[in-house]
Amino acid sequence: MPSAPTITRIEWAPLTGERPRLAGSNARLGVHGKSVTCPIARITTSDGAQGFGWSRISQEEAASWIGQPVPAALEEIPFALEYPLWDRAGKLVGKPVYALADDRLTALSVPCYDTTLYFDDLHLTDDAEAAELIAAEAVEGLARNHRHFKIKVGRGGMHMPVEAGTRRDIAIIRAVRAAVGPAAKILIDANNGYNLNLTKQVLGATADADIYWMEEAFHEDPMLYANLREWMGREGLSVLIADGEGDASSRLLEWAQSGLIDVVQYDVLRPGFTRWWSLGPQLDGWNVRSAPHAYGGVFGVYAAPHLAARIQGFTFAEVDPAEVAGLDGSAYAIRNGEVNVPALPGFGLGLDETTYQRAITENGFIAT
Ligand SMILES: [Mg+2]
Repeated sequence: MPSAPTITRIEWAPLTGERPRLAGSNARLGVHGKSVTCPIARITTSDGAQGFGWSRISQEEAASWIGQPVPAALEEIPFALEYPLWDRAGKLVGKPVYALADDRLTALSVPCYDTTLYFDDLHLTDDAEAAELIAAEAVEGLARNHRHFKIKVGRGGMHMPVEAGTRRDIAIIRAVRAAVGPAAKILIDANNGYNLNLTKQVLGATADADIYWMEEAFHEDPMLYANLREWMGREGLSVLIADGEGDASSRLLEWAQSGLIDVVQYDVLRPGFTRWWSLGPQLDGWNVRSAPHAYGGVFGVYAAPHLAARIQGFTFAEVDPAEVAGLDGSAYAIRNGEVNVPALPGFGLGLDETTYQRAITENGFIAT
């Protein structure tokens, strides 16, 4: 049996870019801004193959991987280098990463949502004007071929007085629904800025806006979620409960398995792609939906849709658009509310050599 190829070279550098529109606050953070950073590692292996992708590996850790064999099984790909190694695995067989889940797949389109509707209205004193502003942003999303939208809510958590912020959340949800029409799925995300009573108040007041999922209403708690579900049942509401990004409870999966959480949203960069590759089928087995969080990391927006080939319950890809100098994602397209994933090898992304080498010289490193 031939020995496994080894890692011979790791290059690393952060690439920088911009969102098309400044992203405002959410329930727990200030303005998210326009700037984005996408740290990219590229590995070369002893068989001459290469792959690149998101990585936060340090120079010391990169040095420790030189000479190490590439894991033979996809499930064993290590976190530190997972995106370069998944990209390499696809490129080795000349197929997109999604085809590693099912090699009969020759095309993949995945339902997605516009995640850009932040608290961009805090400078306004009038709720109607605020609702008009966020609705206009949703219309911009329609023009970018989005059909589904996530609205940040929880203005009364920190940025506004509780009652005024909650009233504005409700006005904005209604205005966005009116602007995007009845076919759109509308998701709301409180970033844990509500409590149980505020959640009921908002979901009750927006019943006619037909919210598809409620994300991070409050920090996940089985007693509160059980109460919310029981209340929704009595009210005739069928809003899905979504949770799990960020510092999720270690018991989150237990609560998903027991039916308290409908949609699991672990981040696609951390714990990452390999974790999702294993977890997704497990969630399928429990009849729990998957929707990896992908905001803010650039690379995850491209990577997450590939998981839809692996996970039957993959419900939505999150789209936080950004242009990163040196990283060419133009083969990905959004059409009619779906991401069309390119049928190109690996993740189907381009890396401009001049830009990457300059970034390595200025802010990165090479381990050999
Ligand atoms: Mg969220």
